[in-house]
Parts: sequence; C-alpha cells; structure tokens
Amino acid sequence: MNSVEPMSEVNPLLDFSGLPRFADIRPEHVAPAVDALLDEARATIARVATAPGSPTWESFVQPLSDALDRLDRAWTQVGHLNAVVNTPELRVAYNDALPKVTAFYTELGQDERLFAGYRALAASPAFAVADAARRRVVDNALRDFRLSGAELAAAPKARFKAIEEELASLSARFADNLLDATNAFALYVEDASRLAGMPADVVAAARASAQADGKPGWKLTLHMPSLQPVLQYADDRSLRETLYRANATRASEFGNPDWDNGPLVDRILALRAEAAALLGYNSYAEVSLVPKMARSPAEVIEFLHDLAARARPYAKRDMAELAEFARDEIGLPELAAWDLLYASEKLRQARYSYSDQEVKQYFPEDRVLSGMFRVVETLYGITVRAATAPAWDPAVRFFELVDRTGAIVGQFYLDLYARPGKRSGAWMDAAIKYRRTDGRVQHPVAILVCNFAAPVAGRPALFTHREVATLFHEFGHGLHLLLTRVDVPGASGLEGVEWDAVELPSQFMENFCWEWDVVEKMSAHVETGEPLPRAIFDRLLAARNFQSGMQTVRQLEFALFDMRVHQDADRSVPPLALAWSVRREVAVVPRPDYDRSLPHGFGHVFAGGYAAGYYSYKWAEVLSADAYSLFEEQGVLSSAAGARFRDEILARGGSRPALDSFMAFRGRKPEISALLRHNGMLAS
Ligand SMILES: [Zn+2]
Repeated sequence: MNSVEPMSEVNPLLDFSGLPRFADIRPEHVAPAVDALLDEARATIARVATAPGSPTWESFVQPLSDALDRLDRAWTQVGHLNAVVNTPELRVAYNDALPKVTAFYTELGQDERLFAGYRALAASPAFAVADAARRRVVDNALRDFRLSGAELAAAPKARFKAIEEELASLSARFADNLLDATNAFALYVEDASRLAGMPADVVAAARASAQADGKPGWKLTLHMPSLQPVLQYADDRSLRETLYRANATRASEFGNPDWDNGPLVDRILALRAEAAALLGYNSYAEVSLVPKMARSPAEVIEFLHDLAARARPYAKRDMAELAEFARDEIGLPELAAWDLLYASEKLRQARYSYSDQEVKQYFPEDRVLSGMFRVVETLYGITVRAATAPAWDPAVRFFELVDRTGAIVGQFYLDLYARPGKRSGAWMDAAIKYRRTDGRVQHPVAILVCNFAAPVAGRPALFTHREVATLFHEFGHGLHLLLTRVDVPGASGLEGVEWDAVELPSQFMENFCWEWDVVEKMSAHVETGEPLPRAIFDRLLAARNFQSGMQTVRQLEFALFDMRVHQDADRSVPPLALAWSVRREVAVVPRPDYDRSLPHGFGHVFAGGYAAGYYSYKWAEVLSADAYSLFEEQGVLSSAAGARFRDEILARGGSRPALDSFMAFRGRKPEISALLRHNGMLAS
C-alpha cells in the first residue's frame, strides 16, 4: 500500500514493512487484501510476460516472485488465524476468499505466457552461467509446467485437462464415500457389561452420543475416538469383531452400492495411467517420482523389499510373542484380526507400562524449552532469546535467533496450548521467508503450533514425553526455514525441497529426546526439581520399540501396494488381488477374506496426495536416522557435526538436490542400518 493513507487505515494484511500484524487483522480486511494482491499478481504476470526483449532473472522471475511472496504472506496470515483463532466471521471471510486464491494458483500453473517466459530464460546465454540455485528454480518451474501438460499439443492437452478434472472429482467422491460409510454405521449397546474394559471417558462419550440421538444405552461408531478404544480395550470379543468387520468393509461391495469405492479405484488408476502416457511416461509411478528424491519406481521397490527382508524376522518375532502371550495370559488361543490391538495393549501394559501422568511431572514448559534451545545453541552456534511481538492470543510466545555476531537471523512465534477455536494437531507455518529484494533482507519468521494442555492452577504447563518429541519435530521444521542461507525465491528454506526429504530436519530433531544427556538436563520435577529418574527413561526407551517389526511391515504393505498398483500401467492384476499378494509377501498378521482396507479404504493414495508416494514416510526416516548416526559417532552434541548439518542441510534449502545435500553432510549415500538399529531391528 502506498503511504499517503494514514497508518491506522492501512489494511494490516497489506502492510509488509515488518512482522505480520496479527493483533490488528479483522475478518473485513480479508476480501479487500486478497482482491488487491490477486490483482497485483495478475498485473505483474501480464507485465513480465509481455515485456519486450528476452526475459532475465531480474526482469522476469524476481518481480513475479515478489508479487507472489506478498500474496503468500497475506494468505498465510489469514489461513493461520482461521486455524488458531477460528470465529464464524473469520471462517466466512476465509471461505469466501479461498476459491479465488485456489483458482489463481491453478491458473498460474497453466499460464502459457509464463511457461514461454521460463523457456526463453532457460535458453538465454546468461542462464548457463547463473548460479546453481537460480538454475534449479527455473528447471523446477519448467518441470512443473511440463507435468501440468503445458508441452502437449492442443488435442492431448485438452484430454489431459479433462483427466485432471475427472480425477479431482473422483478423489473427492472416494473420500465422501468413506466418510458416508463411516457416518452411516452406529451400534447402540444396551447392555453395559459389553463395554467392560473400556476407558471411562470413552464410555461417557458413547453414552452422551446415544442420548443426543434420543436412544438408550451407548453409541459406538467407526470414528477413531470410538473405534480405536473398542478394538484396543473392549473385553467383549464379538463387539470387537463387529466393529472390525464394519470398518474393514467400509465403502466396499459389502455395503451400500452407492458408496462402493471399488469402481472408483479402477477408474482413478486408468486415468492416472492415461495421463502418464500422455506425458510420455511408462506409468503413473514414474510421473509421481519426477519431483521427488527417489529416482525410479524400481529404486523405491528395491528399498521397500530390502526393508521388508530385514524387518520381517522381527515382525514374526513380535507376532509370536503376542500369540504366546494371548494364549497363556489372556485366554485367546487363536488370534484373529480383531484381537491384535486388544492383545497388544494387554502385552504393552504387562511389559512396558509407564504412566504419562507420572512422566509429565518432569517436563514443565520452561525446562523443556530451555533444554531444547540449549541443544540447538550447542549444535548450530546460535542463541535463542525471548522477545515480544503482538500475536493472536496472550499465551503465544515469541523468540529470536541470534548468531555469534549478535545479528538476528530469524524469529518465531510459539503457540503451545489447545484452546477453543484452534485446530488440533501440531504444525509449522512460514510467516515470512528469507529473501533479499532491492538490497533489503527479509528475515525468516516461523510459526510453531502445538495443542498441549494449558497450565492450570498456577502450575506451569506439563508435557508428556510424546509431546516433547512433537515440539522437537516442529522446531526442526522451523530451523529448516530459519537457518537457510539461500535467499533465492523458490529455493529458500523448505521451498523446492523434494517432498520425500522434507521430514528430514524434523524427524532428525526428535532423536535428541531419546538421549539421556539431553533428557536429564531438560527435565525437572515440577515440585522437587529432580531430573527424570533413569529407570523411567529406560522404560520409555523400551516402549519406544514395542512391536516395531510389526509396525514396519504394516507400513511396507501399504507402501508396496501403492507403488506396485501405480507401476502396473495396463492393470494386469486387479487392485484387490494385488493387495492380497503384497499382504502374503510381507504381512505377519491374520486378515479376514472380507478385508477391503486395501484398496477401498486407502484414502491417502486415492483421495489424498500420496499416490506412488506413501513410501516417503519410511524413506525420510532412513535419511533422518542415518543423518543422526553421524552424531552418535561423533558425540550427540558435537558442534562440529552440528555445524555440518546446519551448513550442508538446513542452510541449503532447495538450492540443490536433497541427495547432494545429504551426501555433502554424511560423506556417502544414505544407508538403512541406523533406522534398523534405532528400531531395535539390527542383528549384529
Ligand atoms: Zn513434520
């Protein structure tokens, strides 16, 4: 906004002079700001795309990035407030603006003038000698245009667009069917004894939902907060079986035919294969991997097979232990699919039990934060100090990262507690990305959000060990943003980092919560000030790897199915048969014949963004565990290893391939052994 208006009347969403003005933003600011920024972005696109002469970084990419950065900053603030201080008015303002913003980004990805501009830029002599980060940004832009069908001739391009649109609606229907089938199931239990074993709060919630429906007794559903405790705790075996069966046959041919996802799976796979063929690839699996770190479907399959071969003996051992325990201790001679969670919970309680309530007393907020900050200060040579900034809630804290010269390198908000109007979960948002424009430096600013219990009755907030690990995880994402030294838009911080490598810094940080040296200093009993007793820590460690073999092969079953089903371009094997063949190959637990969780319930892959990408969970775990193993070799708080991790991984952003960054840090390719060792699955 220009400065002729008095400051108080400037729309705070259009003020880019400093930190976001979270405390000043009102719902009525949203529409005018979004409209103004979309207009500005469209005008910039028109101007740079039609400028005379051949495009350069300065005349084309930079002005475009600046306009998009302003839109992104404003829209991130709106989305953030909608997520953490949701009000009916703000929700309306957000939902009114959302389609306009979504449509703009779709348009942007298919803008032929911009595609032509990027091509001309890539072909110019100056580009050949441009720095690597800039070249990578332009190459990525060209790749994304290509994958959106921009290079196709008119007829196939029209077909490609029609496929994309049909796929979008099929994915939405797939999710709707699952949700409708989930919502349609309700079991009203009138005999209280059938709920024996279940936690009191779950029983009370079931009672309340029955009452809300005007029915007697208790209502059980397929929604997680009801389904999970039934399968895990209900002593009544037939009750577990009833809910298991209903859940495993959701959206299948066994239910309402309107909600059968079977035909949708076939159609989605056919369309994805056709789109891949139009783009010149052998399969959709190949297309999916183009922007990822893994190079080919064969590489991914080999990775998954290798992990399966190593994990399976441990999975079998886990299963044998469970079967023996079930037979000898809880009177279940034959384990069925609906017994697995139940028996596992009993086994876990018998072998590895610890109380979250007890552990929490040792992790008061300030002790945890100073312990976490001390880790990054030691590793990365930066200091974290408390500061102040107006925010969206009085409980939000604000910090600055300062380097050895005393200069501020970045700042972050920390919103720790759950409260009404705040979305659940934990995440990191980039409020401001590192940029250098017109000689001015724009420091990165992160927002870290968690949903922990707020302090009560004058006592500090207390965290479970799992919550401490969540905090470290999100802080890891934050450091990726804050410690970048790449100021090139599109390659700074998390921008341009391959999708299957984004979780490296976050999962890496979690490892420190499992180090006694760190935990001892990070814990102090809220009343006595004593550190966490070593015996409790050892129980936490033992429980960490409980059934890790079984959990690993379960993940591999999904990942292998996902990759194979998208590799099979002519769909020679029906998806359901493929699911069973993968299961026979890797699974160690019983499944009934009617189980349709694969493919009918696989929302990640048929309704979400994980198609031929589900392997990424394990892939990123290998990277983070292997990166951490250098710290295990050199000392977990080694500042030399820390400086290397900062310089070769955190600082580099998306300026080079993630594999190059990893190899520069580790001195070799990623290896799987550290992950196996961390999961207690290494023989030697
Ligand atoms: Zn994450």
